Amino acid sequence: MEPYEDIYFEVSGRCNARCRWCATGRKNRAGRKTGAFIDPDLFARGIRYLREYGMIGPKTVVKLFSWGEPLLHPKFTDLVDILNQEDVPFGISTNASKPVFFQAPDALRNLRQVILSLPGFSQKSYDRIQMLDFEKMKTNIAKMLVNFRECGYTGSTIGSYHVYQSNMDELEAAAAFAQEHDIGLLPSFAYIADWMEYRRYLRLEMTAERLKEATQSLFLFHVEDRLRELRAFGKCICPQFDHLVLDEHCNVLTCCLVDRDYPDYSIGNLFDLSPEKIQTLKRAQSICRECHELGIWYLIQGPLPIKRLLTLN
Ligand code: SF4
Ligand code: SF4
Repeated sequence: MEPYEDIYFEVSGRCNARCRWCATGRKNRAGRKTGAFIDPDLFARGIRYLREYGMIGPKTVVKLFSWGEPLLHPKFTDLVDILNQEDVPFGISTNASKPVFFQAPDALRNLRQVILSLPGFSQKSYDRIQMLDFEKMKTNIAKMLVNFRECGYTGSTIGSYHVYQSNMDELEAAAAFAQEHDIGLLPSFAYIADWMEYRRYLRLEMTAERLKEATQSLFLFHVEDRLRELRAFGKCICPQFDHLVLDEHCNVLTCCLVDRDYPDYSIGNLFDLSPEKIQTLKRAQSICRECHELGIWYLIQGPLPIKRLLTLN
């Protein structure tokens, strides 16, 4: 078996944001419990196991997130030390609400990518979606990027701008900020980032209240066109079969879209599974059959990029 190119390793099952269309954010809004922080010893054991069984190779990048905020981890710098000891390239995705700084000039030599999750570019948008402090986020990004680059980070920084109906007119300001800090801005339509919720939408089973919320915030005009496009392709399968996703307990997940509350969340614990067994079990999950029938994997995994935005004064 070839090593994975991407391994998503959730080091923090928690996030402090409250995005409406992500399972973690929705639980935060409801005051419900989410996940935990990984124990650094367990993380080190997981990384060593992945390497020993050939799942980490020279081209693998370990992404330290799924639907949690990695920089909330109180021992995040220890996790980076472990990756450096094993010489494993890694990436993060962050809402930048809690900055983490490094000391050693080569501490981030293995950091390949930073994704900044942007729910708009004003306090109004932050109040509406993440419910975090916009000015603090901008200051944190600026300071962290200076520190990261001083500590050996030479990778690409992506501003992942989630386009909602309410924040289109803030894209220009986001682009100016991105240019100032050498960030590549990547706007794409916000989507329903939760398998069961998307299923309810496609099967017309969403509550009226939730559907009202969707029609007032998301762009969904492209859903039917994309499903037609998928049917025209004929037989194609979900690329998540070729990714490995682990949670903070080293459970191997079906994929990053099936929340921990749902059946079919996991295929078992990493330390009980060989690489071949992982491949076999992942492909046998019953949820995947329905996912292919409905086309959810296609709708979720290729969020539609915004090609061009026209501003009228
Ligand atoms: S979308 Fe990202 S930032 Fe928002 S609640 Fe979910 S994990 Fe947190
Ligand atoms: S088919 Fe759907 S449920 Fe299965 S791995 Fe892909 S996205 Fe996840």
